[in-house]
Amino acid sequence: MKKLGKSTQAIHAGEAALARINEKSGTPLLPPIYQNSTFRFTSAEECAEAFANEESGYVYTRWGNPTQQILEQKLAVLEGGEAALATASGMGAISTALLTALPKGGHVVAMETLYSATHHLLNEEPGHLGIETTFVDATDVNAIERALRPDTKVIYLESPTNPLLKLADLGACAEIAQAHGALTMIDNTFATPCGQQPIALGIDVVLHSMTKYLSGNGAVIAGAIIGKKQFIEQAKTGALRNFGAVISPFNAWLTLHGITTLPLRWTRHCENAARIAAFLETHPAVAWVRYPGLHSHPQHELAQRQMDGFGGMITLELKGGRSTGEQLVNQLQFCALAVSLGDARTLICHPASTTHSLVPPEIRRQTGITDGLVRISVGLEDAEDIIADLGQALAPHSP
Ligand SMILES: *Cc1c(COP(=O)(O)O)cnc(C)c1O
Repeated sequence: MKKLGKSTQAIHAGEAALARINEKSGTPLLPPIYQNSTFRFTSAEECAEAFANEESGYVYTRWGNPTQQILEQKLAVLEGGEAALATASGMGAISTALLTALPKGGHVVAMETLYSATHHLLNEEPGHLGIETTFVDATDVNAIERALRPDTKVIYLESPTNPLLKLADLGACAEIAQAHGALTMIDNTFATPCGQQPIALGIDVVLHSMTKYLSGNGAVIAGAIIGKKQFIEQAKTGALRNFGAVISPFNAWLTLHGITTLPLRWTRHCENAARIAAFLETHPAVAWVRYPGLHSHPQHELAQRQMDGFGGMITLELKGGRSTGEQLVNQLQFCALAVSLGDARTLICHPASTTHSLVPPEIRRQTGITDGLVRISVGLEDAEDIIADLGQALAPHSP
């Protein structure tokens, strides 16, 4: 059969794992939750075999569980990777992948505007991890190349980044890394496997916070690592098992069912965001809008080349600064003031008064977190309703 489309993959991929449990007719259509910590054996020989060769059976849920494995096979298919590992959180995936790639520490070249917890992990935990990181403006591939050292083992990327939606040229970064013998990792949370296929562009390891678009409903904390079979096996039998960031069967099950509608949701997030970005770009209270789908985005051409849909995240700068930002979020009706993203609901945050309020204003300005900056995770509601809600909240500020 020819390669299946994304929507078909999202619904059916991974279900072959069920056959290992039950090959007969009457198999549940909806993959069930194996909500158990351990598995029973009928003989000492079978038990010994399962311990010696994990392919032959399940032993203990921290080592593997059918519900987790259905999800993992689905993720591998969707990202076009050889194998995948589901984890307890996005940070669980990121730390497990870094510990696997850098078992004895080493040098990392990372994008400077990373997700804040990833930045903390690389910047403040190096004593524990033996990892040294050089942060660079990875929108410029030459800056990555200049930062490489003989002991550089990992190039760590996000694209689009949070919250300024900067892009890295994934193909060019992969080429530089391959020439240097370094591993490339990308946090693909903002783009999802529908919006971007990093492995096809030469990236080695793809990471996700499945808390966001993949599960899609804001019901779970979960993460994933996708890559070569050898890397995933090493992560699974090493850092994941020993540091223990294992996904629960229930969260794996919720995520599994969330993913079945991902391609449909992605299309809708993209359509809604395009309309809202266009509305905001002409609004008199707005200084500028950053969205990869807008011609005004400095890397719009790269986004067109590298992405399939521009996603649901929009960042804007309000002319009125911090007080306007605070008033905007206070006047929203159904759009919610909340961190996180990729939810069915539209979520809005104002970093200067919330997530970044403890960061000194000077540092905030240096990293582009200006006082009037607002981040919108455009949801699945009707676009005209989201526009009306934003419009009424912005109205008092229109000159
Ligand atoms: C949320 C997020 C993470 C962290 O994921 P958790 O599931 O909260 O651990 C990492 N990277 C990005 C880009 C995120 O948005």
